[in-house]
Amino acid sequence: MGKTVDLTNQRFGKLTVVKRHGSVGNRAVWECVCDCGGSRVVCGKYLRNGSAVDCGCSNAVLDEPGEIWKPVDRYEGKYEVSNHGRIKSCKRFRKGKRGVATLVAERLLIQSHDHNGYMKVCLRDGRSSNHSVHQLVARAFIPNPNGYDQINHKDENKENNHVSNLEWCTQAYNNAYGTRMARVKKTKEAVKGERK
Ligand SMILES: [Zn+2]
Repeated sequence: MGKTVDLTNQRFGKLTVVKRHGSVGNRAVWECVCDCGGSRVVCGKYLRNGSAVDCGCSNAVLDEPGEIWKPVDRYEGKYEVSNHGRIKSCKRFRKGKRGVATLVAERLLIQSHDHNGYMKVCLRDGRSSNHSVHQLVARAFIPNPNGYDQINHKDENKENNHVSNLEWCTQAYNNAYGTRMARVKKTKEAVKGERK
């Protein structure tokens, strides 16, 4: 085993080595702080060969003006939801070759329509499950003191899951809201018309 060069206080990109963290196999692993305030434990090899240059922040999802992120309930540390109706996976470290962790940057989740026209995302935690985006946003950002189980889209656009467009409500309120009555009636009449 070759002697380990002390990397303490050396800089690699935005990372500054704080101290030796230990070893993985015969490789030294170092604790680093990033210019952004983040931290990262990384194998010295990846510092020296230039593949580790930050804590993952340069690949971070860019926030929109006024966008705030909160952990998704029961997925803390894995997924975050924003008040603008976006969902992202958190940066994480995946056990790679010989136990050396590789950084997986955060990324925005692709949203798709469910059969009712609402936006959904697939969250993984051992197993995959679909979640409605409006429910994730409302649960994270809107208090629900009355324990309502329905969420209304104020502008009646199911794709607009900005927190300002959502409100907790009762089934009766949701059914009577806006043009829904007229739309349902219209659909019924259209169906009747087709049957004639
Ligand atoms: Zn950083």
